[in-house]
Amino acid sequence: MVNTTIKTTKSQEIFAAAQNLMPGGVSSPVRAFKSVGGQPIVFDRVNGAYIWDVDGNKYIDYVGSWGPAICGHAHPEVITALHTALEKGTSFGAPCVLENVLAEMVIDAVKSIEMVRFVNSGTEACMAVLRLMRAFTKRDKIIKFEGCYHGHADMFLVKAGSGVATLGLPDSPGVPKAATSDTLTAPYNDLEAVKALFEENPNQIAGVILEPVVGNAGFITPDAGFLEGLRELTHEYGALLVFDEVMTGFRIAYGGAQEKFGITPDLTTLGKIIGGGLPVGAYGGRRDIMSMVAPAGPVYQAGTLSGNPLAMTAGIKTLELLQKPGTYDSLEQMTQKLTNGLLKIAQETGHAVCGGNISAMFGLFFTAGPVHNYEDAKKADTAKFGRFHRGMLEHGIYLAPSQFEAGFTSLAHTNEDIEQTLAAARDVMSSL
Ligand SMILES: *Cc1c(COP(=O)(O)O)cnc(C)c1O
Repeated sequence: MVNTTIKTTKSQEIFAAAQNLMPGGVSSPVRAFKSVGGQPIVFDRVNGAYIWDVDGNKYIDYVGSWGPAICGHAHPEVITALHTALEKGTSFGAPCVLENVLAEMVIDAVKSIEMVRFVNSGTEACMAVLRLMRAFTKRDKIIKFEGCYHGHADMFLVKAGSGVATLGLPDSPGVPKAATSDTLTAPYNDLEAVKALFEENPNQIAGVILEPVVGNAGFITPDAGFLEGLRELTHEYGALLVFDEVMTGFRIAYGGAQEKFGITPDLTTLGKIIGGGLPVGAYGGRRDIMSMVAPAGPVYQAGTLSGNPLAMTAGIKTLELLQKPGTYDSLEQMTQKLTNGLLKIAQETGHAVCGGNISAMFGLFFTAGPVHNYEDAKKADTAKFGRFHRGMLEHGIYLAPSQFEAGFTSLAHTNEDIEQTLAAARDVMSSL
């Protein structure tokens, strides 16, 4: 499919050149639009709820750089703080007080976190937390869920979500069997399957890691009792519970999904929002476990740019903005209006669609549903989603270019943006 109504000549030129320079023309797979067809759009700048492409088209953005832009892109207070920080240099490779400030903010916000270590990406945070889980429990096996994504490290590339799901890839070549032989998988929302794995592998399972609300297989919420059940099972079998809140942290609620659902994991990974649009990840949790991390303890993990002053600055300012009273209520209201509107339009135009939102995270599947796990999600009509995606793009609405990714709203989205999005959806769905 080619773009029909919008001019994208420059995007096409730049992307064609990129394909000779970088694998697939991109720095991260889903950006290539493979699953929705058509050319990806090449962007020039972002501001508030909007993105502009190199041909001058403006879009309402529901990707938000895959999560970080919860205050809106290029928020003036974040930019001003970054300008000030920039004057002092870009990297120290040594302790800096900004790390204390952000660490304190994270510890205050996320109930289960007593100590935190900053890294440069969500992938890194998940890799590090896995090593720590294994070191603390002296066990090697872990349980993850089908369709959950914990970054691209070898051990997690088993039934992983995000780009792996989007492109329908099997477990990636180049991942040695030995790297994943200790990675056990269960369907999301299936406590019985988790219990069975614990029984089949006595005293061998270090812990369970999951997205407490899934965003990387599309948007899937935990069934009532699922998170509680995992907390009980991990206690019962002497294993750790790890929430990967790289996406949900500071998005589902200020204190993450663990605040929303009232569950206290042992360890948590963070990323995306806490970097305010700069590269950051973090992991944290119980003091007795975190005290094992080098140099306090023997579990090695390091990073040249970790705790980078610019990234810390953007994170601090972003969290400050989120602390304003009413933030999460208004995000919830606005996003609910969007998802309810989309579901109603789908129904009125005769398309089987299910979905919903929690706070500023949402998703729609082109299937009647309900969707409780990745198997259910795969029943979605991805070809129809592709046509919907392209139609919305041509109406100036930028959605994640995959059926298996969540959508994100921000504090910068206005009522008019939502109305405009719904009007576009009505147009597109009527002609799907
Ligand atoms: C995005 C994401 C990651 C990976 O983070 P990167 O910064 O892309 O490496 C890990 N886990 C979850 C739940 C994510 O959404």
